[in-house]
Amino acid sequence: MSERDLLMIPGPVEFDPEVMRALGTKTASHVAPEFISIFGRALKKVREVCLAPSAQPFVVAGSGTLAMELAVANLVEPGERALVVNTGYFSDRMALLLERYGAEVVQEKCAPGEVPEVAAVERVLASGRFKVMTVTHVDTSTGVLAPVEALVKAAGRHGVLSVVDGVCATAGETFHQEAWGADVYLTASQKAIGVPPGLALLTVSQKAMNAWRSRKTPVRSLYADFGEWLPIMEAYEAGRAAYFATPPVNLVYALEVSLGQILREGMEARFARHRRMAQAFRAGWRALGLKTLPVNEAVTANTLSALYYPEGVDVAMLGRAREQGVVLAGGLHPQLKTRYFRVGHMNVVGPGDVLATVGAVERALAAAGHKAQPGAGVAAAQTELLAAR
Ligand SMILES: *Cc1c(COP(=O)(O)O)cnc(C)c1O
Repeated sequence: MSERDLLMIPGPVEFDPEVMRALGTKTASHVAPEFISIFGRALKKVREVCLAPSAQPFVVAGSGTLAMELAVANLVEPGERALVVNTGYFSDRMALLLERYGAEVVQEKCAPGEVPEVAAVERVLASGRFKVMTVTHVDTSTGVLAPVEALVKAAGRHGVLSVVDGVCATAGETFHQEAWGADVYLTASQKAIGVPPGLALLTVSQKAMNAWRSRKTPVRSLYADFGEWLPIMEAYEAGRAAYFATPPVNLVYALEVSLGQILREGMEARFARHRRMAQAFRAGWRALGLKTLPVNEAVTANTLSALYYPEGVDVAMLGRAREQGVVLAGGLHPQLKTRYFRVGHMNVVGPGDVLATVGAVERALAAAGHKAQPGAGVAAAQTELLAAR
């Protein structure tokens, strides 16, 4: 891969040079005063990015899967009931984790590209005794955006804790954790948060922290136990060092820089930019005759596009796009894997990336024999960019 290639996959994504420079600075001791203040500031910013002023933030070395495991390991005890609103690959993983920690799992499923009806989910919630409901904010395998606000509020009405997997959404899709009453918002560094892979991030409501405090059984994982991490997070935020396991010092430097950039842009402006870029991408895809996997615009994510290969085109197209300087991703949903491809568009994504990517897809499709008016995709995307305020 050339350094000038564009990495347009659903994580890792293109990162800002200032973030990359922070990653390359000299590693301080994890108990040095300068690191303590950087980590403390990063924790405060995680809260601001998730719009969760009274939540408890956790930043732990690991990937998004660890963030999922932290939520499950701490909130669920063996024999408790969990409802998984299942939209694809990562909801399957959540169900697997819940089962591994002894939960009795009920799933509300749907066809790939769709989302379960909120009313149907609410009926299941009302049928009783669930401890948690999980939902994937943006399903990375299908490009589907779930109606999280309505789902989280439904869980709240039934006294059920809500866990939202925001790994492909946080800091890209509109989300107001506290206003909506979501109990856990979890994510990883390498997607819209804009930091290379390696950090699991969570914001946990006080209600969920109290549910953890009133557990009857110990958390079955040591590394994932809030009991080990809470004193560490509290100490760093209060300007003191504490040790459980060595924090990834340089990733925390990079996180603090990236979260600062995100907050300077402003959360609403950032959500709106992701929406505008996604609309321009969608206009480009339509003009190229590409069909999206999500069944309608209301359930289509703004952080990635999942697109069926047109007739006569297959995975070899991704190699051709790469030759054109743009790296795309293949399919992930087990039922459809070979029939579609994915384009990530989060974090620093701007108009130039939209045009370069739509252009590369257009040339890759042309090379594969797909017929379209030359420039049609780029023109449609550009028209949309010009129309956006
Ligand atoms: C990427 C992703 C994950 C997994 O994150 P890893 O960092 O690969 O462990 C989980 N959930 C969603 C929605 C994702 O997009």
